[in-house]
Amino acid sequence: MSTVKAYAATSATEPLGPTTIERRDVGPHDVLIEIRYSGICHTDIHSVRGDWGPAAYPLVPDHEIAGIVTEVGSEVTRHTVGDRVGVGCMVNSFRECTRCRNGQEQYCLGGTVLTYGSADADGTLTPGGCSTHVVVTEDFVVRIPEGISLNEAAPLLCAGITTYAPLRRWGVGPGKKVAVVGLGGLGHMAVKLAHAMGAEITVLSQSLNKKDDGLRLGADHYQATNDPATFEQLAGTFDLIVNTVSAKLDLDGYLGLLAVNGTMVNFGAPSEPLSLSVFSLIMGGRSYSGSLIGGIRETQEMLDFCGEHDIGSEIEVIPADKINEAYERVLASDVRYRFVIDASTLA
Ligand code: NAP
Ligand code: ZN
Repeated sequence: MSTVKAYAATSATEPLGPTTIERRDVGPHDVLIEIRYSGICHTDIHSVRGDWGPAAYPLVPDHEIAGIVTEVGSEVTRHTVGDRVGVGCMVNSFRECTRCRNGQEQYCLGGTVLTYGSADADGTLTPGGCSTHVVVTEDFVVRIPEGISLNEAAPLLCAGITTYAPLRRWGVGPGKKVAVVGLGGLGHMAVKLAHAMGAEITVLSQSLNKKDDGLRLGADHYQATNDPATFEQLAGTFDLIVNTVSAKLDLDGYLGLLAVNGTMVNFGAPSEPLSLSVFSLIMGGRSYSGSLIGGIRETQEMLDFCGEHDIGSEIEVIPADKINEAYERVLASDVRYRFVIDASTLA
């Protein structure tokens, strides 16, 4: 065991603060990563604040980790010391079930071990990436392409894969009309990725405040959802709508924007149930779906795609002691477009 520095929440209401945590010794199949950057995902805020049910404290958040391998176990074949690597929302899974064998470790039947707040093999709860080091089994560590800086790569490990996987699953490419609801961490990655895939993109944001950014990131159109005319003008337009909004939405309004056989896929995970009228689906053969991050193979594929297309996240790098301020800004939709913690400020 080694003791390393970290930031943790001690309750749903107290500010996060500095602490120390234990990391396990490097086993034969493990790699030790010196964390350089970790992104702040809205999920961290939901988790810390107990939005989805009570959390176990102390809770060390962050599951968008980028760093350098500094030690490898005796049996490790996939990584070597000095490699630039990432770890996302999962650090292990059962591996023997059909879903793991199909590369869908996020839906593992035996229980995915999440990067934080999840029971590990030894029964302890995993602490997340808001710390200086992490020990992870080599199969859940991915390579970051040379062309992407580590700070801009960190958010790809959750925001990147969460948006990439469904864009691929629903065949986004030239000729497809895609709407991205919410221009935050996930939303801005959806715009960049769908643009690189060749789709025609419309951002649906609460206001036009971020229009210039949205167009610069690759959107073709940008409309405000606080203007009722948007819903009239765009009725029946989109093949795919990706909903990244962390709060409750009027689903029927958005489903009405789908073309015949169009799909709306939800990543946003508000604590309150969402409701819809089945007529919003029946009239037009529309579908409403959900998606959870992506598997490990697909995460590597996404990183390689980002390397080829020169895609990183738009970030604001902050020291660890600004984490509480950053949470408030994310909650106020004042994130441009991902906060990334410089782990050297924890040391
Ligand atoms: P974020 O950076 O806060 O972005 C969410 C965006 O939603 C905001 O920037 C804002 O965009 C819009 N929004 C916020 N409140 C709204 C409201 N009341 N009404 C309408 N729009 C609103 O969050 P994120 O990190 O992208 O995460 C978004 C959600 O996805 C969270 O619930 C998170 O837990 C979830 N998530 C899911 C997965 C998955 O695998 N399914 C993975 C990661 C995250 P505008 O200002 O442009 O309107
Ligand atoms: Zn996340």
